[in-house]
Amino acid sequence: MCSGRIALEFVLRAFANGIDGVFIGGCRLNECNYITQGNYHALNMVLLAKRMMQHIGLNPDRLRIEFMSSAEGVVFAEVMSDFARKVRELGPLGYGESLDENVLKARLMEMTALVPYIKVHTNEKLGKRLLEPSEYDKFFTQDEVDKLVNEAPAYYIDPQKCQACMICARRCPAEAIISNKGEIHIINQEECIKCGTCFDVCPPRFGAVTKIVGLPVPLPPPEGQRAVIRKKQEKEVA
Ligand code: SF4
Ligand code: SF4
Repeated sequence: MCSGRIALEFVLRAFANGIDGVFIGGCRLNECNYITQGNYHALNMVLLAKRMMQHIGLNPDRLRIEFMSSAEGVVFAEVMSDFARKVRELGPLGYGESLDENVLKARLMEMTALVPYIKVHTNEKLGKRLLEPSEYDKFFTQDEVDKLVNEAPAYYIDPQKCQACMICARRCPAEAIISNKGEIHIINQEECIKCGTCFDVCPPRFGAVTKIVGLPVPLPPPEGQRAVIRKKQEKEVA
């Protein structure tokens, strides 16, 4: 019932499924039927999504948001005709951008996985109300979004340091940590939303969680080789 319900993930998923253009219709700004003013949120989400599209080489004109009332049938028809014409001119998704289908899909999936991290870092801006259209273009800059994506961290648990205290697994909001009693804990990178909680809560005396930026994440030890080496045992062996 509200354009504010349209999440960034929905837009990226539509493109990942091969949709050539995404149109979002919202109520007129400042004419919200409720009290949420969700159309402003939708606008900010679109401005961010366009920068994310540009980051992976997609033409941002494939995404459009327009605001109109349900009584404006003629406006709706005109806007849709114009958008359909524009998308037809751009051609099938990735075609006009000279992007290989599989490469594009992989980039969209990577971008979708970064959405929780991006939302955490843009949360304050996403909630703002842009009162002037002249503010739209500069609200999210390309440099800002490129930097955010390029500097997205990964978290890794050092098998030599983890003492299987289980604190990180209990606190992880995405249930992304494979946790068994007496075993080195493992971060499932597919599920991790990069919130950094494990990094913050791992007791300093263990310091087992590492933040990695711009480098590949080491592979975890294979199953069957995850028994924790207790600090005490280590000393005894030495
Ligand atoms: S960074 Fe956050 S989501 Fe990822 S494993 Fe750590 S606590 Fe879980
Ligand atoms: S909090 Fe640190 S020591 Fe404890 S299980 Fe997690 S990574 Fe291992």
